[in-house]
Amino acid sequence: MAATDSWNDPERCPFCGEALASPGAGFVDHTAENPDCATKFETWRDRVDGDVRGGWGG
Ligand SMILES: [Zn+2]
Repeated sequence: MAATDSWNDPERCPFCGEALASPGAGFVDHTAENPDCATKFETWRDRVDGDVRGGWGG
């Protein structure tokens, strides 16, 4: 999983602030149990992708 400027605490969910069982892999489990966070993660990832491909327009 790529690190980002906005995600500076891999031990916590960046969307709800909940502590993860383990950094990285724990987040996958977390999104499986929290569809709301999974949705936000998809949106966030799409936006990061779009920014890079679009020339940092966002
Ligand atoms: Zn969360």
